[in-house]
Amino acid sequence: MSIAQNLNNIKSSLPEHVTLVAVSKTKPVSDLMEAYNAGQRIFGENKIQEMTDKWQQMPKDIEWHMIGHVQSNKVKYMVPYVKLIHGVDSLKLLKEINRLAVKWRKHINVLLQIYIAEEETKFGLNDQELDEILNSEEVQQMTNITITGLMGMASFTDDKTQIKKEFLHLKSLFDKYKAISTNNCQMNTLSMGMSGDYELAIECGSTMIRVGSSIFGGR
Ligand SMILES: *Cc1c(COP(=O)(O)O)cnc(C)c1O
Repeated sequence: MSIAQNLNNIKSSLPEHVTLVAVSKTKPVSDLMEAYNAGQRIFGENKIQEMTDKWQQMPKDIEWHMIGHVQSNKVKYMVPYVKLIHGVDSLKLLKEINRLAVKWRKHINVLLQIYIAEEETKFGLNDQELDEILNSEEVQQMTNITITGLMGMASFTDDKTQIKKEFLHLKSLFDKYKAISTNNCQMNTLSMGMSGDYELAIECGSTMIRVGSSIFGGR
């Protein structure tokens, strides 16, 4: 099936409150344009250089999401155009994003990445670190970011029970904090679910899914 057909099949199966991020990492601009021409406007990339190259070549009404792990010293390259950074996992990184957003007179939305998997290779905050960031005075003073929700990645396993347990853990954290509404924190987005598990993620309360291979094919 074509990229446009894959995209339309997925989109037509999604509940209205779920946003689809088309994960286009490693794929050529021609593939992204096929999705664009089929109506897709939100793309997710995990490398800043690649995202910048694609941003330069593609229409400017696209929302670019950074879904990968971000190093503080690279934030400056995406601040001019990135809309949402999914993987914020430290106070240090949050500070740097805000500092550069102030400098560039931009406003950047971020999701806090939570460590939910049972794998050491994954990044993210634990429950206590999340609580500390959300209660931090320093964070509350940040003028050019908004924390719009949480993001997580389940373990790489076929064990649906395990994945469900991890998604439900993330959902429970989201529910715990979603009532927060301050100048720079409005929790309305729960980013969880990829090609292999997005249906389960939606059942568990996801509002934003990040789907790559089911749209663009394997990498
Ligand atoms: C690559 C990636 C995805 C998409 O993975 P697929 O299995 O191809 O859908 C989603 N989220 C993150 C953080 C990724 O790095």
